[in-house]
Amino acid sequence: MDNNLKNLFLHADGDSFFVACELSVRPELRGKPVIVGGDRGIAVAMSPEAKKLGVTRGMPVFQIKKLYPSVVILPHNFELYNDIKERMHQILLSYVGILEGYSIDECFALVEPSEIKYFGGEEKFMTELKNEIEKTLHVTYSLGLARTKALAKQASKLEKPGGVVILLTKDDEIRALKSTPIDDIWGIGRQTVPGLQRLGMKNAYDFVKYEDEVIEKRFSRPLLVLKKELSGENIMEVENNIDPRDQKSIQSTATFHPATTDQKIIWREIAENAESACENARALHLVSNKVSFFVKTSEYKYHIDEVRLSFYTTDPGMILSALEQKFSKLLPKRQRIRSTGVILHNLTKEESVPLDLFGKQEKIFKNNIIEETADKIRAKFGSDAIKRVSSLKKKTK
Ligand SMILES: [Mg+2]
Repeated sequence: MDNNLKNLFLHADGDSFFVACELSVRPELRGKPVIVGGDRGIAVAMSPEAKKLGVTRGMPVFQIKKLYPSVVILPHNFELYNDIKERMHQILLSYVGILEGYSIDECFALVEPSEIKYFGGEEKFMTELKNEIEKTLHVTYSLGLARTKALAKQASKLEKPGGVVILLTKDDEIRALKSTPIDDIWGIGRQTVPGLQRLGMKNAYDFVKYEDEVIEKRFSRPLLVLKKELSGENIMEVENNIDPRDQKSIQSTATFHPATTDQKIIWREIAENAESACENARALHLVSNKVSFFVKTSEYKYHIDEVRLSFYTTDPGMILSALEQKFSKLLPKRQRIRSTGVILHNLTKEESVPLDLFGKQEKIFKNNIIEETADKIRAKFGSDAIKRVSSLKKKTK
């Protein structure tokens, strides 16, 4: 069996997500007992330290204050959680083409063989993804990769928090199914569990081994679908449910082989990143007024900086001239760079940007229209039909 030729499914699940998001912006609270839910009067999410003290989900805040005065109580900040979710989607979309947002802290993705191949295997693909998530977002996700959507969902649960579980062979799958209790299977409701237990099923493996006919007759058709999915038969699809016009940022990254210290090469890559991110934004009629860019060293260290513009644009020339001023400061001395990236933030629909009094914004839009026309020509005649000035521009000292 050649797994390399088949699509795989990825599931990502944020660990203690609300608390993790809070800690990502308040590192001074790391290692302390923290809960989120102060605004609702109950603990909704807890840090491991708070759990260890004895705080449980749903515990009233007045009780926590009395019993555990050291606990830091925070209100929900959904803007922050959504922002981190969006950035997580952006990271994933730089690895895969099809993504399904499942909840604020969970998503599925379809991983095509070419994507795995690009990174040099399943393990390298997952390690790279995990490193990028943690270094960029400062939160951890549990990741599962498997032959079906339901298996991927179970896989990510197995080594929480922060685990990466890859199920590629039948043996891996059987081991995973055996360690999944029957009442911890995605898609099996609480009211269904006793019926399965009465038939002698203790874990997901018992469920998968059971006769199809009995499952279908005694339970429901969706349960049979789930059973097939868990046995490795792909039925469920990843639903591409993210409206591309709702994204708040667009990222373009490039990894080069071999890593280099050559400033000209690095700048050229950044220029290409900027152009490709702008091209993607223009295709969606989105514009940006904040751009960040980064270089990643061969030791996986990120060096990031950003520029805020006084106008909205997707003109790579304007963006690059703003980035160029920060480029030499960004670049670490004598370190080899393995990848670069440009991220357009604060993406806004063109039609909802206020046109300012002096017509400056309007002029910029006209410039964008010129770029859009160029995009159309490139789409029709190939990417070399028009070369932009910026990709020919070389960094000079
Ligand atoms: Mg979660």
